[in-house]
Amino acid sequence: MLRITDLHAKVEEKDILKGLSLTVKPGEVHAIMGPNGSGKSTLGNVLSGRDGYEVTGGSVEFNGKDLFELETEERAREGLFLAFQYPVEIPGVSNMEFLKAAVDARRKHLGLPDLSAVEFMKLARETSKRVSLDQAFLKRGVNEGFSGGEKKRNEILQMMLLEPRLCILDETDSGLDIDALQVVAEGVNAMRDKDRSFIVITHYQRLLDFIVPDYVHVLAHGRIIKSGTRELALELEAKGYGWLESEAV
Ligand code: ADP
Ligand code: MG
Ligand code: MG
Repeated sequence: MLRITDLHAKVEEKDILKGLSLTVKPGEVHAIMGPNGSGKSTLGNVLSGRDGYEVTGGSVEFNGKDLFELETEERAREGLFLAFQYPVEIPGVSNMEFLKAAVDARRKHLGLPDLSAVEFMKLARETSKRVSLDQAFLKRGVNEGFSGGEKKRNEILQMMLLEPRLCILDETDSGLDIDALQVVAEGVNAMRDKDRSFIVITHYQRLLDFIVPDYVHVLAHGRIIKSGTRELALELEAKGYGWLESEAV
């Protein structure tokens, strides 16, 4: 599914990722934890192809293709989905239009016909119900005036509609109340499948009580300094990151 080998990347002339390697197989859920500023979001941004992030070394293979040969939109069509820590607002474009365009592009790539407006509306309504997002949000501008929790629900809605192969959630739990956290977790759990993988970036162990990962990795100073299973997350919660960082230096 995803093979990251010795990835180096910089942002504004500053080296952030310094030799990161990670392999994610179909069906696996990997959690990435680590101190603030360690490069977690940078990893997500580099993978999704966001502007301003320069890859200076290493390689990433996604679905057997060289990820860096693909434009951002192609990555999405190929089935890569990134849920941002701070979702963008796109005033003036209705959420429904935005979602339909994204779903049409993904379906086209998969060789499936476009859904009619009526079919899509039905699907979008059913899916919004599953994420407890009022249908009124489908008509509003993308994320325009949405609360933090509503933006996250909207992201999970988008993720469910797109049916990606690999979902990256970057601190999707930050600032969420427990109900919204459960919506995110239930959404992810409902989508877990032998062919779909997740990278869950999180600061806190808490989310991993709801989304139980197969592997947990610690990212510090731009590299993965330790990998383990769920127990590692519990250990980190109890002991913090300091012991690992001093071990790794
Ligand atoms: P994390 O998500 O682990 O908290 P980030 O990947 O957001 O860490 O940031 C890693 C480092 O890169 C930080 O020092 C941060 O200030 C820097 N950085 C990230 N994005 C940018 C950017 N767009 N412009 C300048 N510096 C950035
Ligand atoms: Mg951060
Ligand atoms: Mg971050």
